[in-house]
Amino acid sequence: MANRITAPERQEGDLTGRTLRPQSLAEFVGQNAIRERLQVYIQAARARGEPLDHVLLLSPPGLGKTTLAYIIAREMGSEIKVSSGPAIERPGDLAAILTHLAPGDVLFLDEIHRLRPPVEEVLYPAMEDYKLDIVVGEGPHARSIRLDLAPFTLVGATTREGLLTTPLRDRFEVVFRLDFYAPEELAEILARAAPRIGCEVDRDAARELALRARGTPRIAIRLLRRARDVAQVTGTSRITAAAARETLTMLGIDELGLDTLDRRILTILVDRFDGGPVGLDTLAAALGEDPDTIADLYEPFLIALGFIRRTPQGRVASERAYAHLGRTPTRLL
Ligand code: ADP
Repeated sequence: MANRITAPERQEGDLTGRTLRPQSLAEFVGQNAIRERLQVYIQAARARGEPLDHVLLLSPPGLGKTTLAYIIAREMGSEIKVSSGPAIERPGDLAAILTHLAPGDVLFLDEIHRLRPPVEEVLYPAMEDYKLDIVVGEGPHARSIRLDLAPFTLVGATTREGLLTTPLRDRFEVVFRLDFYAPEELAEILARAAPRIGCEVDRDAARELALRARGTPRIAIRLLRRARDVAQVTGTSRITAAAARETLTMLGIDELGLDTLDRRILTILVDRFDGGPVGLDTLAAALGEDPDTIADLYEPFLIALGFIRRTPQGRVASERAYAHLGRTPTRLL
């Protein structure tokens, strides 16, 4: 069955109970090229009275894939059903989800790279022809029947483009890669989010937090909540630049937005592995961390900053990484 994802902001005790997610394309900050294209595709699909083509959203976590999926459904005037790759264990589970879709529904599958191969195969004819192939009976009496499905839109999301199979990727007509956000965009997101979590944020405070949020709205909003706490204990709901800075210091976040684990990754890469190349699993083992956490949450931003390069031989620290740690490379990089 499609399982609902609980919005993390609700779990964090949002006082007003209102979601922080923007509800329309117009409220969605940044990613301008994607917004413009989506606007056109949605308008055209609506005019034809057809569901939107299948959309694949690629990005590191927290950049707005889930938010966009909900916006697509809302702008299409459709219902959204939500599930994820690892949640769908058997082909029959996916068949149940697909047969319950109404015409025009949006099916959002998060972590789509983690679909099991037999489940993924059910998806191919569903995406291509809105058909479901079911095998009934066993052994010599087994036969396949083909059922019609309601026309629907699949919105797939993944943080690991490299782990997608080619046949699955090829069945998406529209592929969007979300980029890290500029500080001004994150500051705008924070200015809009502040009243919804019961605080005010000064312009320079929003900018201070935005600059150190690794280009990621989810992280920016998390920092805003912590800054709200800092302001609150001093008896105010207004976040000043001083409160923002105090929060960032308290959280151990440096001027580039790097936290303790980012710095440990760079330090181990440089000190223990002489700058690399080192494989992801070896690096993760040396850190005592899960390789997926490093690859999903940490590496993309370190690569975007130009601190780490991914080579066929493994991860390599750049000169910038040495400079950030205040070290000198012992050999030519
Ligand atoms: P993902 O699915 O890529 O992990 P989400 O869609 O869950 O990311 O976004 C994380 C949080 O950041 C959400 O709470 C959402 O409110 C906020 N957010 C993401 N993108 C934007 C945006 N462009 N404008 C405003 N808020 C955003």
